[in-house]
This record gives sequence, C-alpha cells and structure tokens, in this order.
Amino acid sequence: MNLSTVLIVVAGFALGAQVWFLFEYLLHRFAMHHLHGKGIMSREHLLHHVAAGWTFSTTHLLSWAGMLLVGWLAWFPLGWITVNPAFGASLAVGWSFGYFFYEWVHAQAHLSAPRNRYQRRLRKHHFHHHFGHPMANHGVTIRFWDRVFGTLESPEQVRVPRRMAQPWMLDEDGELLPEHRADYVLVGTRRSTPESNEEDRVAAFASVAPSD
Ligand SMILES: [Zn+2]
Ligand SMILES: [Zn+2]
Repeated sequence: MNLSTVLIVVAGFALGAQVWFLFEYLLHRFAMHHLHGKGIMSREHLLHHVAAGWTFSTTHLLSWAGMLLVGWLAWFPLGWITVNPAFGASLAVGWSFGYFFYEWVHAQAHLSAPRNRYQRRLRKHHFHHHFGHPMANHGVTIRFWDRVFGTLESPEQVRVPRRMAQPWMLDEDGELLPEHRADYVLVGTRRSTPESNEEDRVAAFASVAPSD
C-alpha cells in the first residue's frame, strides 16, 4: 500500500465515522422524536424512553443490519464513484464503526457507572435527554451537533424519577450512591403503577419529560 492509499483509507474511515455522528443526531431528533411513534424506528426508540433501560431485543438485529446496509449500499458506492474503491470501502467501515460505537456507548450508559470524564459527561447528557428534556441532547456519543444546532442543555444536576433510576446509580436501599450526588437528584416515588406506566407512555410518545 503506498502513502496516498493509506491517506485515502484513513480519510475515508474518519469521514465515515463523522458522517455517522451527524446521522446519529439527525435520526434521533427527527426520525425518532419528531415522528412521535410513527414507523418502527420511532416507536422502538420511544418505547426505550418508556422503559428507561437498555435490554437486548431482536429489533436491535434489524437496526444493525439496516445500518450496515446503508454503509455498504450507499456510502461504499458513493465513495467509489467520487474517489476510488478503497475510499468507498473505508467510508463504509468508518460509518459502521461509528454506528457500533454509538450502540456500545448507549448500552453502557444505561448499564454501567461512568469510569472517566467522557463517560460521566455523556451519561449526564443522555439522562437529561431521557428525564429532563427529550427534545434536547440528541447526540449520544458526542455533544458537538447539539451545540451546532442549539439543542445542548447541561444542567448542574439531572433529575431522575426514582422509578426510572439506572441500576448503577443506586445503593441496595434504592438511594443515590454518594459518588453520583453531584450529578443527579432522585425525584418522586419508586413504585410504578398501571396509571404511572400509562402516563410514562403518553409522555414518551409526546417527547416530553416523564413526571415525578
Ligand atoms: Zn437511552
Ligand atoms: Zn431519545
């Protein structure tokens, strides 16, 4: 591989990943929240807001396959036509990398406590989106596009309805662990009822914050 091919591959990979990060923002804001549950992508995402947790489901396989197809059926030929096959392939690989990085960051945000500044900042960013303002903070891996499009909100403390607290936030009595008290505050009661479940569903599909 000569130097120009290496540069083309690196540039293609970096661009592909950046294109994903922009799409992550646009899809989350417009194809998921603005559609209020119309179509499978929006419905599945808003159900994620109702459940407020991350579990693997078979619909993940559908979106993984869909995003890989976009990479290889759209970005690969586009990069091939505009530059060359190596650029097209690295664009598709970069896009796929960006997408799976997003899936991993999102799942980890729900499943495990932050271990560094990046994870801490991104979890606050994402949980304010869930519990404070679902029409803000659409980026999950980076906050850059929220800043660009004016949807960035970073409150000092993020309010978390007790029934929706993430397992890693709590001690065995269901109280906030001391290390998370600077970032989060628990509100409301722990118990969910059929009425509160229905309220959560209505709120999620309207893209408004769940009540205390
Ligand atoms: Zn989430
Ligand atoms: Zn959302």
